[in-house]
Amino acid sequence: MSQGTTRTTCPYCGVGCGVLAKHQDGITTVSGDPDHRASFGKLCTKGMNLGATTDPEGRLLYPQIRGQRESWSRALAYVGSQLRDTLDRHGPDSVAFYVSGQLLTEDYYVANKLMKGFIGSGNIDTNSRLCMSSAVAAHKRALGADAVSGCYADLELADLIVLTGSNLAWCHPVLYQRILAAKAKRPEMKLVVIDPRRTASCHGADLHIPLKAGTDLTLFNGLLHSLRKQGQLMPDRLASLDEVLPTLELAARGGEVAQVAAAIDVDVASVSQLFDWFAATDKVVTVFSQGINQSDRGVDQGNAILNCHLASGRFGRPGATAFSITGQPNAMGGREVGGLANSLAAHMEFGDVEAHQRISQFWQVDTLATEPGLKAVDLFDGIESGQIKAVWIMGTNPAVSLPDSARVRRALADCPLVIVSDCVAQTDTTALADVLLPAQGWGEKDGTVTNSERRISRQRAFLPPAGEAKPDWWILCQVAKAMGFGHGFEFANAAAIFREHAELSGLDNAGDQRRDFDISALAQLNDRQYDTLSPLQWPQPAGGPLQLQDQRLCADGRFFTTEQRARLVPVAAPVSAVPATTETGMRLNSGRWRDQWHTMTRTAKAGKLNQHAPEPLVQCHPRDAGQQQLRDGQLVRLSNGQGEAVLKLQITDAVRPGELFMPLHWNGQFASQAWINDLVAPLCDPISGQPAFKQSQVQIEAV
Ligand code: SF4
Repeated sequence: MSQGTTRTTCPYCGVGCGVLAKHQDGITTVSGDPDHRASFGKLCTKGMNLGATTDPEGRLLYPQIRGQRESWSRALAYVGSQLRDTLDRHGPDSVAFYVSGQLLTEDYYVANKLMKGFIGSGNIDTNSRLCMSSAVAAHKRALGADAVSGCYADLELADLIVLTGSNLAWCHPVLYQRILAAKAKRPEMKLVVIDPRRTASCHGADLHIPLKAGTDLTLFNGLLHSLRKQGQLMPDRLASLDEVLPTLELAARGGEVAQVAAAIDVDVASVSQLFDWFAATDKVVTVFSQGINQSDRGVDQGNAILNCHLASGRFGRPGATAFSITGQPNAMGGREVGGLANSLAAHMEFGDVEAHQRISQFWQVDTLATEPGLKAVDLFDGIESGQIKAVWIMGTNPAVSLPDSARVRRALADCPLVIVSDCVAQTDTTALADVLLPAQGWGEKDGTVTNSERRISRQRAFLPPAGEAKPDWWILCQVAKAMGFGHGFEFANAAAIFREHAELSGLDNAGDQRRDFDISALAQLNDRQYDTLSPLQWPQPAGGPLQLQDQRLCADGRFFTTEQRARLVPVAAPVSAVPATTETGMRLNSGRWRDQWHTMTRTAKAGKLNQHAPEPLVQCHPRDAGQQQLRDGQLVRLSNGQGEAVLKLQITDAVRPGELFMPLHWNGQFASQAWINDLVAPLCDPISGQPAFKQSQVQIEAV
């Protein structure tokens, strides 16, 4: 590593690649960190172009109140007094935080501590709700904890990889490259892609199952039934047979392979091939992501996948697991600190009285929230209804990214107090803020993130802050003090917050080996050790040396349920609230494009990244385009009862008849008529509250 180079972590997706960054003469250059175990020196196009995104142009540089520049001291005093006043007059649940998987764990920890511990409300939720909250709920149901077991090395050890609801080649490119590299070394390794679309991930696949959108449950129930018939169940790892039977019987109702194939609208030979390969292969990894999670049946779909792996013993072993891959860089870290409205810090749960006492004593509060708060969509409903009178949005752009986003914008416009802390000056959300607080961006801030394999890595500062930008944790602490909560927020630096977070994770954990999240061994790190911390996975319990090798949860066959056995969850075949197609409408799917990230506030600054896809488009099958006499490249209007978008048409058989696909990134800042989430109904999974972004109904017509 050359002099002046800083070892840090990519701020985009949940792969969490290691980055070597250098800033010299006003130019930032980056390369992959060969020593980082998530990425071994690899970066995708987004990571490689990080240097082009760090210039100060477009940054929020100083605090503002209603458009007027203010000093930090006046802005903090104003925010503190306004939140205090709202709290005193209307109670804890009149205040809400909506935070982000872009925050570092230390920021997240302080935000959660302030809201749940001191303000006393559960009303803190995160944009990670939109990304993986269904996977969290599925893991809790099956394993008794939010315990994603696998590590990335499993992708190389597996003999069969199944990608479902995941365009890994574009959304998590470095993981896809790891799979292709392993497959090149062992050509007998199989890759299956289950996706209604023919995506870039299909290019390296041995088999593509282009199932009808929304039929994943039918397919995985069929797989479970097939595994049972082929004698592949390993009930010794499961709860009693009485508990397992309902799941098996429900799965059997989907019928034999021919019925399953007909239901998902795929040829029998392809479905049989998948079932046979799965049954014949000991080391199978099923990777799942947003295509599974962003559904009104997302939790059940996650459990249908987990059922197959748990029932057949393909779980918790090298090369064998069901693997939820998170979209965001720190979705996992947010879960660790209780960033979701329905959980408490350190994976402790609402309703667990001992956990309430443990946290209350640790934080020295008697105001701890004891009920879950509002999940993302409900939280903005609460703003619209007037229940929430003050909201603080941190590092995210809900005016674009939430379903029915036009309604979200209207709700924010009418909210008495909207505080936004962000590093970007102009977003659709900052435009609606009463108070703007400049936060440090990637390269300026310091802390940790946790990737999809539970690996905690340092993000390190190597740039001076833009303007008067401050760390999110610092802003939160100053506001907490201005509200009169000083005793809980006297942190000198990010390391001090991390130590407190680590200590809480191990509290009263002695002798209880079944707590999943425990990093108490890291509570003793001094500032220098924290600064030089190598990427490592949790758990890291106190009392032994740090575990530096790859770890899998539940490797000993013991799970986090009271009986320490895994649970199969009976899941019925889908009766989706929104039909796949109707006579008058088409089903609209959305997802990432290779070189853009979220609402493009950062990636659009890199000219090279814009070259891949310079404008929004909608993909439509030739049959549907022909029926409507639409031409490739012409402008079309998508509309439904909620909104409309005008954009270019691409005719391609990569999508199924009756289904449309549109990238999620463009919005009011970049294409004034392509607000995709204006078209998305606020329909959520009833358990997780995760919005169903992939099943809206729209009309398509020529403009
Ligand atoms: Fe960054 Fe994800 Fe690309 Fe890695 S794969 S460089 S974490 S965007």
